[in-house]
Amino acid sequence: MFNFKFPLFHFLVTLKVFTLLSVTFDSAISWSANPCDDLKSYGKITIPHDHQDSTIAEFLKKEEIRENESSLFAKKIFESYLRGGPISQIIEKVTNCLVVQDVELLSAHLQSYAKKKSVEVLNSWGEQGSNFAKLVAKNKSVVSLFRHPKSSNFGAKRAGFHRGTRSVFMSLVEIDYRDWMTIFVHEYAHVLDETLRQNVLFFGNIDRVLRIEKLANTPNLNEQTINQEDYDLIYQWCLSSFQRGILAETRAWAVTAALYLEARNNRKIDKLRWMNETFFDGDRTNEKSLHQNFNIKYSEKIYDKLNSSFTTSYEGIFSVPIFKKVIEKISHEIKANPLNFLNFDQVLVSIIQ
Ligand SMILES: [Zn+2]
Repeated sequence: MFNFKFPLFHFLVTLKVFTLLSVTFDSAISWSANPCDDLKSYGKITIPHDHQDSTIAEFLKKEEIRENESSLFAKKIFESYLRGGPISQIIEKVTNCLVVQDVELLSAHLQSYAKKKSVEVLNSWGEQGSNFAKLVAKNKSVVSLFRHPKSSNFGAKRAGFHRGTRSVFMSLVEIDYRDWMTIFVHEYAHVLDETLRQNVLFFGNIDRVLRIEKLANTPNLNEQTINQEDYDLIYQWCLSSFQRGILAETRAWAVTAALYLEARNNRKIDKLRWMNETFFDGDRTNEKSLHQNFNIKYSEKIYDKLNSSFTTSYEGIFSVPIFKKVIEKISHEIKANPLNFLNFDQVLVSIIQ
């Protein structure tokens, strides 16, 4: 999940704002003054509603041309974006020029090309980037380029990893092109995090949730009256909520920061002020090393920063006194000794060996 306090624009608002601005098109990629002109041939290719008009061969030929044009256009759009091209304007123009089926086809191509191109860029960062690129390429998940439609929790976020559906979304119009690769690394670090996957399953297991609910509804349950087995269950269940929250964020940011440093050292990306401010600058006393393989250290400052976007909710079950106490106890234990809890699994560690 990515929720530092950046300007978060709503998708449509951003579109409107950008279209009001006069835009200089990216000089490295030639666009017509009106991108619809680039789509002239593309726009003429539509699926015939009545197949009787055309022979099967003609139809397939049209489909082939349509596929190719769409794929090329997706490539052009994404490469323009990575160079700072006016993505909102291009997307709006393009979606206005095309019929619905063609917009869908273009979106599909844009998604797969965004992942393919990002893997290619990562591969050039250095050894760690290349290790990471291989794992991402092997992984079947795709990047959705718009707001996640399945959860209102994602309403204000420009990028995220949905724990339940295990899908990545990155809003192309809201993410500054200079941040794209770093955020891409962050979201895929979540995808590859086996500890996160196991804890999502543990936390959501229906039998376990029912037992937890039963305990939460037991009158006068407290640390004196509860039996050890039930207490351990509550503790493990609360801990798994940290494993899918703050601890997952810490693992993902550790990987992100390590790869960012490598890319910086090899002059593959420009300095990102927010990355430096969060992980590398300022007072670095009282820091703990996260893992021998990771370049970033861990301080309460980083914990607080990551946790501020992950407010431990004391609503529902977590408002029951014994649950609230366990949450506070775990939070204290993690701050005191994050290494006991982080559980970098082999996949994440292998990236930066
Ligand atoms: Zn995250």
